[in-house]
Amino acid sequence: MTIKIDHIGIAVKSIADALAFYQDTLGIKLSKIEEVSEQKVRVAFLPVGDIKIELLESTSEDGPVARFIEKNGEGVQHVAFQVENIEETLKELKKSGVRLIDEMPRIGANGSKIAFIHPKASFGTLIEICERK
Ligand code: ZN
Repeated sequence: MTIKIDHIGIAVKSIADALAFYQDTLGIKLSKIEEVSEQKVRVAFLPVGDIKIELLESTSEDGPVARFIEKNGEGVQHVAFQVENIEETLKELKKSGVRLIDEMPRIGANGSKIAFIHPKASFGTLIEICERK
């Protein structure tokens, strides 16, 4: 069961540069910056209403965000939907034949459980599903 959009992930070359726009120009307040070493990424969280903008900066040249920017330039990298039960959702998706990047949830930023659906299955947009504690 999908509850709502949780966040929008935007790949940027530099969080510091992007904050000058998102925080200072648009006036969206930064809540925190966290490093997710498994994903080779630094993440800045900017809550807008009850969803968040997630600015993603690669910490390595071969990380997924670096590869995304190399291929597409900076911009929206994924949209995340919050679900009630991620294990159950993944099971349902698999049963429906949806191509998944992660068949098992992993731990993302904030300690939430996350998994990615392959963009080929979702009309070109990388979709993250997440379950909040
Ligand atoms: Zn995300």
